[in-house]
Amino acid sequence: MSTVVTTLTGVAASHGSVHARAVGWDPGTAVAVEPAADIDDASARVVADLRFRAAAATSPEGAEVLEALVMFAADPELLALAKSRVDTGETPEAAVRSAASTYAEQLRGLGGYLAERAPDVEDVGARLADSLAGRAPAELPRPGHPYVLVARDLAPADTALLDPQVVVGIVTEQGGPTSHTTILARSLGIPAVVACPGARAALDGHEVLVDGTRGEVHLDPDADLVASVESREQQVAERRAQATGPGATADGVPVKLLVNVGTVDEAVAAAGQDVEGIGLFRTEFLFLGRTEEPELAEQIETYAAVLEAFGERRVVFRTLDAGSDKPVPFLGLAEEENPALGVRGLRTATSRLDVLERQLRAFAEAASRTGTEPWVMAPMVSTPAEADAFASLARGTGLHHVGVMVEVPSAALRAAQVLRSVDFASIGTNDLAQYALAADRQLGDVAPLLDPWQPALLDLVASTCTGASGRELPVGVCGEAAADPHLAVVLVGLGVRSLSMAPRAVPAVRATLAEAHLSLCRRAAEVARAAADPQSARSAVAELLG
Ligand code: PEP
Ligand code: MG
Repeated sequence: MSTVVTTLTGVAASHGSVHARAVGWDPGTAVAVEPAADIDDASARVVADLRFRAAAATSPEGAEVLEALVMFAADPELLALAKSRVDTGETPEAAVRSAASTYAEQLRGLGGYLAERAPDVEDVGARLADSLAGRAPAELPRPGHPYVLVARDLAPADTALLDPQVVVGIVTEQGGPTSHTTILARSLGIPAVVACPGARAALDGHEVLVDGTRGEVHLDPDADLVASVESREQQVAERRAQATGPGATADGVPVKLLVNVGTVDEAVAAAGQDVEGIGLFRTEFLFLGRTEEPELAEQIETYAAVLEAFGERRVVFRTLDAGSDKPVPFLGLAEEENPALGVRGLRTATSRLDVLERQLRAFAEAASRTGTEPWVMAPMVSTPAEADAFASLARGTGLHHVGVMVEVPSAALRAAQVLRSVDFASIGTNDLAQYALAADRQLGDVAPLLDPWQPALLDLVASTCTGASGRELPVGVCGEAAADPHLAVVLVGLGVRSLSMAPRAVPAVRATLAEAHLSLCRRAAEVARAAADPQSARSAVAELLG
């Protein structure tokens, strides 16, 4: 007789499966040490601790995360802000936390890639506060055998130190598909399920089977279940190792596999990998926190370096995606109550057309210097008139591949008109989900609504593809949705023909697509759209793809 299996569901964060004993961990149980003398002393201690951890990090991504934390822990502006708050009466412990959270809010306001750094600053704030209060960071459990780590959430610095030989699976109650826990777990190849409520109480001390592909955790599973999930994963791993080169479905329909990057260094690193180009170059980093616009020459040099690195391969630049909530002071935009619904993205051109014009000139000049043909697209386009105006401005500057991002529901619903004067569309599923589900991207409480498997979001992707099909315009996806192998199959079934994602996500997406004929992709799209909620869409497609 087989054991009754209890299953918890969460978000499939890092694919693969593992069967081991679960160990619950509460990082709040810190040990007492000598408190730091003041904020500078706390900064020095935290920097030393993080450097020590960086040297011990178990992956290049982990070391990178820790180096970023070191930068924040030693940041003179952050420390000065904290000290100024002590001068106005806050305790040093409260001041470092509140200064870090001010900083984190600014990063969140920037959205996308930079918003992902906000938890790092908060983590640093908590470490500085712990040091001032004489609390040493809690150590990960060492039960003497490989285990599945179960926690409420994991700080980036803890995840960066995980040894995949010891922590063989991760289950967290919080976190989302783009959190650091997820990113690092993927880079270490540790199967992970996040946003799994009640996990600690239910799993601690039990044998568990973590199915990071389907987002399920089985409690005390029987041998048959373990064997069937393990054999499915084994087959996937073998197929993945074999797949290389341009992306395509099993019947040879090309699907370009591109990457999302935001700096020249990232672009150069990605150029060395088996990818077909850049599907989204976020130009924001060049403008961040600047009180003056970067010189035209600096812009040209930056874009040319990116084009140089990718040579003949496709490079899609996105024009500045700033808003009044974003610290791009030289734009001189007004304060707003609801910045996500305000003057952001292409809308900033209404008052600062000159900034957009110079950026387009810089792209065109970088193109002619490198003898390449970049693709250029505008963010936050809502109406046909906006798309027309952008297309005419970009073409007038000598750019030949002009597109728009579809990240506002109006653009998805009226895609035929919005796309009438452009050459391509790139769907930003992160913002499209935010606006379709009326759920703020920066607010953890509404994160489940932003699940990229939301059937309503898939309807909007379908509507965009239908609108583009009359002129056979290429439609890509550059939001987080593209990085999920099963969802990638769904997107291709809906008509998407390029997928842009973090470089590390490319191999799994390539291998999964190579296994699916276009007819199966279309069936997966139907099944996902017919589902009532994201979790049933995910499970139904997992079932279909086997
Ligand atoms: C998106 O909105 O999906 C997108 C790719 O843009 P960002 O995340 O930079 O807003
Ligand atoms: Mg966006």
